[in-house]
Amino acid sequence: MSIVQHLINGELVTKGERTADVFNPSTGQAVRKVELASRATVQEAIDSAKAAFPAWRNTPPAKRAQVMFRFKQLLEQNEARISQMISEEHGKTLEDAAGELKRGIENVEFACAAPEVLKGEYTRNVGPNIDAWSDFQPLGVVAGITPFNFPAMVPLWMYPLAIACGNAFILKPSERDPSSTLFIAQLLLEAGLPKGILNVVHGDKEAVDALIEAPEVKALSFVGSTPIAEYIYAEGTKRGKRVQALGGAKNHAVLMPDADLDNAVSALMGAAYGSCGERCMAISVAVCVGDQVADALIAKLEPQIKALKIGAGTSCGLDMGPLVTAAARDKVVGYIDDGVAAGAKLVVDGRGLRVAGNEDGYFVGGTLFDKVTPEMRIYKEEIFGPVLCVVRVNSLEQAMQLINDHEYGNGTCIFTRDGEAARLFCDEIEVGMVGVNVPLPVPVAYHSFGGWKRSLFGDLHAYGPDGVRFYTRRKAITQRWPQRASHEASQFAFPSL
Ligand code: NAD
Repeated sequence: MSIVQHLINGELVTKGERTADVFNPSTGQAVRKVELASRATVQEAIDSAKAAFPAWRNTPPAKRAQVMFRFKQLLEQNEARISQMISEEHGKTLEDAAGELKRGIENVEFACAAPEVLKGEYTRNVGPNIDAWSDFQPLGVVAGITPFNFPAMVPLWMYPLAIACGNAFILKPSERDPSSTLFIAQLLLEAGLPKGILNVVHGDKEAVDALIEAPEVKALSFVGSTPIAEYIYAEGTKRGKRVQALGGAKNHAVLMPDADLDNAVSALMGAAYGSCGERCMAISVAVCVGDQVADALIAKLEPQIKALKIGAGTSCGLDMGPLVTAAARDKVVGYIDDGVAAGAKLVVDGRGLRVAGNEDGYFVGGTLFDKVTPEMRIYKEEIFGPVLCVVRVNSLEQAMQLINDHEYGNGTCIFTRDGEAARLFCDEIEVGMVGVNVPLPVPVAYHSFGGWKRSLFGDLHAYGPDGVRFYTRRKAITQRWPQRASHEASQFAFPSL
């Protein structure tokens, strides 16, 4: 069986340490193994990044951007191959995999603007013969730890910008679907990146702890579940590192009585069941304002959910593939059992789905619950599967209270024709990313991505302008060139104009 290797100092390496199986979730078969790095292997990657950093830091931003331009071209040329790799290990459909890659490429395009985004600020004559400017300087060696659900896009949120800003990067991808992530990193080397500036180490907690504890690693970007995000934030900041740790979610869509219901249903179908619900921005709760809206919504959703085309992600023309692992499937089935036991009304049951020809795949069909209430586990916790819960409320204010009381605050949206309601929602909702008639309001690469409450630990959001701030530190320089033959006496009072 082949093995997914580390990429250290520009070379693919096998260390012969611990390994884990990588599965094709559509067939349930192990397809390859992945190396799990020891602390010593992580340190080797850190040493390589540290040695490569000084020359890269001093490479003009425009030259760094040229590497990113070539990288973008290579990504586009390899779209079909990368989509296939994502789909084979993650299970999402080929079209969905191509979509995630395109959204990842947007971030490479943003990184191509390095000379523009790194321009400092300059003021002439802040005092007599004194000029001042502030610079954005790279941090040094920085690291990213990424989840399984976007093996192409989420790493691309991080390292193109970090590297364009002049840093050296260590990436620790998810061990569940590492092949596309590694292949994409190799393309950046092919685009002309010097060796050591991007290293990929596969692994689990041991590798992550080595990155947290290494004094050479100045910043950590993390995307994954909330318990691990909180752990990495606490342990990283305790050691004086800069940390942005993005966690889990429970995203609500509010349906107002005046919403265009047919369009809202189409939007909800994609947002709840696309990628089998394994998106941190997936809509998992539909909050209906009034029983009439709820009854009409369920009447329209039910047949569409039953008609979802589900199969191996690598087949064409499907709506949904399997969940990523057997454990993920069992967890989702457990939540459905729990919802039934708690008294929610199961309208469509996705348990026990068998896909002909793929009987051992990790499939769960689209599932819909009605009459879900806030104290139920299926409402409170992130299920991360194809399960949509309908909660009935009487007013927009009640809907907003419900959302604001939830521990997560990643994304949300409102379906309405009422501008006043939409404006109130945008102003008062305690969620980081808000859509108005847009079900998945994932910001484009030149805005930044981040949730509120327990969906993000840290001050700066991912990518875009916040990404530039995260991967650089400011230096303020004040410079005086006295006129020849002038002499200024000592000043003991605090300098001022
Ligand atoms: P996860 O937290 O299990 O794993 C994420 C990363 O952390 C992986 O690289 C993994 O190897 C590592 N890891 C796992 N356990 C660890 C431990 N004990 N110590 C140190 N590192 C550890 O998440 P996942 O299952 O891969 O991804 C799904 C989760 O990610 C969901 O909760 C989803 O909402 C979240 N997510 C959030 C965003 C966002 O932007 N907020 C985006 C994508 C996914």
